Amino acid sequence: MLDLQKIRADFPILSQTVNGKPLVYFDNGATSQKPQIVIDAIATYYQEINANIHRGVHTLSRLATDAYEESRGKIQNHINAKLACEVLFTSGTTHGINLVAHGFASFLKPGDEVLVSALEHHSNIVPWQMLCEKTGATLRVIPMNENGELIIDEFDKLLSEKTKIVTVNHISNALGTINPIAYMIDKAHQVGAAVLIDGAQAVPHLKPDVQALDCDFYVFSGHKICGPTGTGILYGKEEWLNKLPPYQGGGEMIKEVTFEKTTYADLPHKFEAGTPNIAGGIVLGTAIDYMNSIGFDNIQEQELALLDYATKRLLEIDGLKIFGTAKAKTSVVSFNIEGIHPYDIGTIIDKLGIAVRTGHHCAQPIMNFFNIPGTIRASFAFYNTKEEIDVMVEAVKKAKMMLS
Ligand code: PMP
Repeated sequence: MLDLQKIRADFPILSQTVNGKPLVYFDNGATSQKPQIVIDAIATYYQEINANIHRGVHTLSRLATDAYEESRGKIQNHINAKLACEVLFTSGTTHGINLVAHGFASFLKPGDEVLVSALEHHSNIVPWQMLCEKTGATLRVIPMNENGELIIDEFDKLLSEKTKIVTVNHISNALGTINPIAYMIDKAHQVGAAVLIDGAQAVPHLKPDVQALDCDFYVFSGHKICGPTGTGILYGKEEWLNKLPPYQGGGEMIKEVTFEKTTYADLPHKFEAGTPNIAGGIVLGTAIDYMNSIGFDNIQEQELALLDYATKRLLEIDGLKIFGTAKAKTSVVSFNIEGIHPYDIGTIIDKLGIAVRTGHHCAQPIMNFFNIPGTIRASFAFYNTKEEIDVMVEAVKKAKMMLS
């Protein structure tokens, strides 16, 4: 059992009031809050070792480089990558996906197929559409059912020799569905397709093992796991990263530059052009240490208890419908109340100090599937409590009364 009082004390923002009410922060799917240790680590970096990395021979540059590379090593261990050079720092999930989609332009031709799922965030749709427009390849979509689960039989049927890459999220941001990615990776490999997993919503809840999964790429953002914004990771198998062309050209990604020809640096530097978010990269390691100090078993136990409790309490409300009722689900409850626009509920409960996300959650195809403009999404983290859920349920009841 987690000592929630102690954990909550790690997050200064959680003891704030918003609109005169104690903050209830249930927008963890959008971004997590940051513990003091992460906030302090950013200041410490700038106060003590700020310098550019991989460049100077001077002491500060070496200290900053060592800290940055140490963080890469921590992340390598955390996701169980075979090699540190398979772990690329990015600015977030969006950057990681675009990097891979951009590179795949070199491999695709008309007639080839890219398989995405009906449950994707726009970040894992649009870059692939752009790739298909550029190359003449075709985008195919793995459909979903009413519970918000992918229809795996249809996935099996869509796979063929034409499939060059399958790109799917580990966990859906809009509904919380956990996708059967181990099965999907295995099946995709049987037809010779590469697989990218969008782990943005998974890493806050579990520790991915990229070698056990055998995925070719796994991407996530630092800001959803207690780390700073503008940080992220693209894991790629060494053989794939060696094959992919660089995404951006510039300093630090080269071996040699002449006006006639440039040769590229070895991994991971080939994909890390320019001065990166050095403080962010270092502090992402601090955030991962913090999450591991809480422990992912404890995190899951607390979050699943919150999910069960919130589901039960919300369903007490007449006319409330939950979207996303998959058997395998994480701590996200996406709901609507019949006849009321989600924005109206969101606006009223914000006045009561409650932060939820309302709208399409950057997943318009899912909203179109259910034929709704959006949902109210409460997404819970390990530092949330059942008492906060009670506050939300009472607030939603009040909003419903005011709006009906
Ligand atoms: N994929 C999923 C499943 C997400 O939830 C998000 C963030 N909401 C993203 C991609 C994009 O992440 P970022 O904005 O941090 O690049």
